[in-house]
Amino acid sequence: METYSIVVLFIIFLFGIILVYFVWKNVGNKKIVNQEIPSEDYIKEVLHGKVDFFNQLNEEQQATFISRVSYFLHTTRISPEKGASITDEQCILIAASATIPLFHFQNWSYENLDEVLVYPGTFNEKYNTEEERRNILGMVGDGAMHRKMILSLPALMAGFEQHSDGNTAIHEFVHLIDKADGEVDGVPEYLIPKNLIQPWIEEMHQTIKEIRRDESNIRDYAATNPAEFFAVVSEYFFQKPRLLQKDHPELYTMLNEIYNGEKVEK
Ligand SMILES: [Zn+2]
Repeated sequence: METYSIVVLFIIFLFGIILVYFVWKNVGNKKIVNQEIPSEDYIKEVLHGKVDFFNQLNEEQQATFISRVSYFLHTTRISPEKGASITDEQCILIAASATIPLFHFQNWSYENLDEVLVYPGTFNEKYNTEEERRNILGMVGDGAMHRKMILSLPALMAGFEQHSDGNTAIHEFVHLIDKADGEVDGVPEYLIPKNLIQPWIEEMHQTIKEIRRDESNIRDYAATNPAEFFAVVSEYFFQKPRLLQKDHPELYTMLNEIYNGEKVEK
């Protein structure tokens, strides 16, 4: 082989390595399932118009947020079912809900999720969207529904209305984060610092008691069990952080350490 060919081959090889590195860096480990997703400009427009969390980030963080939203859209199926139809804007809001709780964890993605099913409204335990008694807004699946999440479209949208206290989609993604260690128990073992586990469990039980005695402004559903407690107060933390800090400083400090790794000195 001539020296010239060897040099050319070497250059091609080098470019290959660089390309693999960048693709790897940008897409992480999950398989691409959607090639065509909305443009970054459109993603930015939607986030800017609807997502307070995004608007409070600096320019560099916003760019990171947009790339995480794109990654989610590339790697997660979003399927309208039972007569629902879904717009790009709604897909972006689902991806934003996934991005918010894990934003400060650069190497974390939802390895335990393949697909988000979107229903046209509330549903019941049998996944029925038409029978009379339906009050489920969203859920993380088990058994045959393992690796799937269901969201009711009106509940998704309500979470991004101005001044909304709750956010169903963030709530469900928090359950997925909680579930990653194998147990949905209100203790997200991959995120929480080891020395915070015991104080966090105590804080959960204490506040659940206060909610049951009607001595708290946290909504009653949080007192169902520790898993629901963690999901509901996380909604509160991301939607109304200043209010949570004012009304429940202890809870706020702990959630801040769980989600942002920030230890606030007293
Ligand atoms: Zn829940």
